[in-house]
Amino acid sequence: MSYRYRCGQCRTTSPPVATRRAAEAEGAWHRAREHSGHHPDDESVGPDHENELGVGAALALLLLGCLIVAACNRLI
Ligand SMILES: [Zn+2]
Repeated sequence: MSYRYRCGQCRTTSPPVATRRAAEAEGAWHRAREHSGHHPDDESVGPDHENELGVGAALALLLLGCLIVAACNRLI
C-alpha cells in the first residue's frame, strides 16, 4: 500500500510514497515551502487508492506466479 499527501488549498497531491510517515514528511515539506509552515485547510494524508491493487488483481498475480513456478518445475 502506498500513501499520498494532499493539499486542498493548492489542489495538489504528492507522488505516492511507501509509508504514512513518508507522506507526512511530504506534507511538512509542502507546508514549509508553499505555506510558510502554516497548515492549509483540507490537507490530508491517506492511502493511495488510485495505485492500489484490488483483491481480484492480487489473486490473479498470485495464480500467475503459481503457474510460472509449476511450469519451471516441469522443465527441470
Ligand atoms: Zn498547499
